[in-house]
Amino acid sequence: MRQDDGGQPADDRPEDQEHARARLAQLTTAIEHMRQGLCMYDEQGRLVLSNRAYATALGLHPGELRPGITGREVLAAMRAKGFQAHLPPAEREEQLSRMLRGGDGGESNLERADGQTFAIRHCRTDQGHWIATYEDVTHSLSVQRRTATELKESEERFRLAVEVAGLGVWDYDTLLVSRKWSGRLREIFGLEDAIEPSLDTALALVHADDRAAFLRQLQTIRDDAACARFEASVRIHRASDGQLRWITMNGWKTFKADCPMGRIIMTARDVTDEKLAEERILWSAAHDALTGLANRSCFQAELQLALQTASQEAEAVGLLLLDIDRFKQINDTLGHDAGDRLLEVFAARLRAAVRSEDTVARIGGDEFAVILRQVSSRHDVAGLANCILERLVKPFTHNGAVLDCRASIGAALFPAHGRSAVELMKHADLALYASKAAGRGTSMLFDPAMKSQVRRRDLMIRRARDALDGDRVLPYYQPKVDLRTGAVIGLEALLRWRSRHGRVGEPGALGYAFEDLEVANALSDRMIARVIADLRCWLAGGVAVDHVAVNASAAEFRRDDFAERVLDRLARAGIAARHFEIEVTETVFVGRGAENVQRALDLLSREGVRIALDHFGTGYASLRHLKQFPVDTIKIDRSFVRDMDENVGDEAIIRAVINLGRALGIKVVAEGIERGAQADRLVGLDCDLGQGFLFSKAVPSSRVPALLACKSLMARAPSDRPVGQGLRLVAS
Ligand code: C2E
Ligand code: CA
Ligand code: CA
Repeated sequence: MRQDDGGQPADDRPEDQEHARARLAQLTTAIEHMRQGLCMYDEQGRLVLSNRAYATALGLHPGELRPGITGREVLAAMRAKGFQAHLPPAEREEQLSRMLRGGDGGESNLERADGQTFAIRHCRTDQGHWIATYEDVTHSLSVQRRTATELKESEERFRLAVEVAGLGVWDYDTLLVSRKWSGRLREIFGLEDAIEPSLDTALALVHADDRAAFLRQLQTIRDDAACARFEASVRIHRASDGQLRWITMNGWKTFKADCPMGRIIMTARDVTDEKLAEERILWSAAHDALTGLANRSCFQAELQLALQTASQEAEAVGLLLLDIDRFKQINDTLGHDAGDRLLEVFAARLRAAVRSEDTVARIGGDEFAVILRQVSSRHDVAGLANCILERLVKPFTHNGAVLDCRASIGAALFPAHGRSAVELMKHADLALYASKAAGRGTSMLFDPAMKSQVRRRDLMIRRARDALDGDRVLPYYQPKVDLRTGAVIGLEALLRWRSRHGRVGEPGALGYAFEDLEVANALSDRMIARVIADLRCWLAGGVAVDHVAVNASAAEFRRDDFAERVLDRLARAGIAARHFEIEVTETVFVGRGAENVQRALDLLSREGVRIALDHFGTGYASLRHLKQFPVDTIKIDRSFVRDMDENVGDEAIIRAVINLGRALGIKVVAEGIERGAQADRLVGLDCDLGQGFLFSKAVPSSRVPALLACKSLMARAPSDRPVGQGLRLVAS
């Protein structure tokens, strides 16, 4: 109670009472219109004061809540109105009576069956009154509930997505410094549930090479406010089995309100299988599946790179091109299985012969290349090439067959032999070409002279093409004679070509054209057609020609239809095969296309075409060839005949060849007989047949009938008559 200055209690004054009444009325009105329900019960549990909102909360009419009514009566009224709350009756009773009984104060909820919910706050006053407020929280509660449900759903979706994606989750609260690892994350790391999540535990599993970078990323996202996310790819040794696994990690930082520290969520995915598949794809794009060596495109990229590095470092690079000598032959005769095995063994030996920093590639069927880095001189390259050849020399067996993996090597040096990859390749290729021409199984380093050789080669090929186009290719015929009687026993057709100016040229001027697949075959076609036409003409005209021999080069056998073409033409011209002979040199047995030679010669021979072995003794002769191929005639090369007077060795060879022929039932023809003495000596050595300027040079077809009409080309005296003075024909 307030006291005024005069000592009389303030409330006792009439104006004060009036004032108090007015205030009470204002208060009552204010209370009546409050949105919150309000009630006050006295110590005996009788209602002292309440408002409309309170009645509404209890489902009653305000008039039913007159002052003085007890809490129990209020409950009875509520029950009579069918009031229902979301509590079991016993509990509801208990809650209500507890509330009505009052306590020291507190909060509770009243949730009505219709969904309306009220938050009740109550307390007891010093005078023992119980006061409570009822606030309708239905709306805010539903918002809160909806938010909670949505959050739960989105979390569930996230969990599902994480699970489906196989992601392990690492949840790091930077404020509380707590880590949570999901089950999947433990699986990825191979860690058991009992192991406490810790950075050290995880880091210990990360591959040593990736550890520092990964740790840096973790520190950056933790400490750098500007960094909100990171992505890392790390290798780990899985704890459970020590296996090396590839993991991609994604991290995000989320901030808590009013806190500079955040929460970092990291997901981890084991991408080992994808990585391996990707590596396999990348690997097979750059490698040859059979040998495991780099393929052509990879080789080209490596070469570019090696040259680039070498020019920066002022170093030299060696380039080797290799070609297996008899690959096609083995592949065709022993099958692809043997061919594959040969390639595998070859590749392995090649790889073993060079240093680990060198690139070994398979750039074609049986073509390989080696990039030798940091070589100091051409001797280095030559040394390595020889070392490779040595490793390749030893044959090996496959399914009982002996396979030979020798190769020819062409080498070029950067920058001495070419400043670009293209030029270097071209020059190494020239060297390879020269190496093969030199007899295979050897290595050759590029030499600028090889280029002039190429120019000569181009000129010869152009010349041959030009002669073919102008139909200026024709056969001349040189007789083969019986050395004892001088009788012509057959002819050899020798290619002649006329220049645009009418000059007759010899085949030597077309040399390389016989090695070019396309041109050699065109020349051969033209020659065979002409020879057959001449033969047909002579035979039809009663000219007594026994046979004509035609020379065939190795290139002609690179197409596998040589025999068929010859036989077909003969058949179409109606000429018996016995009138035809094919002269091959031993190079066709060892060169490219060698694999087709056996079949072609066997077929020709079976059909009656004779086979002569030309230039005998000058090449890579093997007596085996005489047994292996159906040889009817051996032609002793004119180099032996030329020097036989001075060189006893040459005479010995001639004698041996004659004996060999006799023993094998093979005819022997001595070539290049220019002097009578040579002819006499050959007869003395028991050589029956010969050919040479002594008897006749090659003559045009028009002169053949006259030549054949001679009984003998032998009338020569004295016996050492010099060459080139024309022939004296002995008319029949
Ligand atoms: P070859 O088959 O050994 O032919 C013999 C060569 O020796 C011919 O030279 C011939 O004119 C020459 N000759 C013959 N007797 C004597 C002689 O007593 N003294 C000298 N010094 N030479 C003699 P040609 O016609 O220049 O032919 C050279 C080579 O060209 C032939 O050697 C042959 O390998 C090749 N050839 C010729 N015609 C053809 C052809 O139509 N096709 C193919 N693929 N090669 C051919
Ligand atoms: Ca010949
Ligand atoms: Ca010859």
